[in-house]
Amino acid sequence: MALLPIIEYPHPTLKKVAREVDLAEINDAFRKIIADMIETMIEAPGVGLAAPQVNISKRFFVVDVSNYYPDRKPFVLINPVILEKSGRQTFEEGCLSLPDFREDVERAKKIKAKYLDEFGKEQIIEDEDFLAIVIQHELDHLDGIVAADRISPMKRMMYLTKLKKMTKKADRAPVAL
Ligand SMILES: [Zn+2]
Repeated sequence: MALLPIIEYPHPTLKKVAREVDLAEINDAFRKIIADMIETMIEAPGVGLAAPQVNISKRFFVVDVSNYYPDRKPFVLINPVILEKSGRQTFEEGCLSLPDFREDVERAKKIKAKYLDEFGKEQIIEDEDFLAIVIQHELDHLDGIVAADRISPMKRMMYLTKLKKMTKKADRAPVAL
């Protein structure tokens, strides 16, 4: 297993719509990348990591919510699609690709989604809590959207100004390399 470098905003891959994974691609080599992503996410530490964040522009992400749902091991969602969503919830989100980002983001409260697991089998997932937030955050990455795009223009401007200053001074800790 290996740790993968996590890219940061405004890297162009983070702004691209990622392409679907072909069923034929889901083989041992692909599962090795999934294992590396899970290791990278846990090491970071993070609760989710989308393929575009490790510069792979394909539609899959890994999630580790075992702190909140003890029965759930880290898992992968390939080609996820939200089938139903309802309600609203707000949560202070961070992101491994947005240094120092911590802002309230509003998302759907309850979601139902389908995805392929690491063997290409279709699965259905439903949640109305933290996992629903994580899935929506990671799904955004597959569509070239980051959490900073989900806050008010004024707050976004303030964050981007802060980010520029941090990059200039290079006074921040490196992220999970
Ligand atoms: Zn993120």
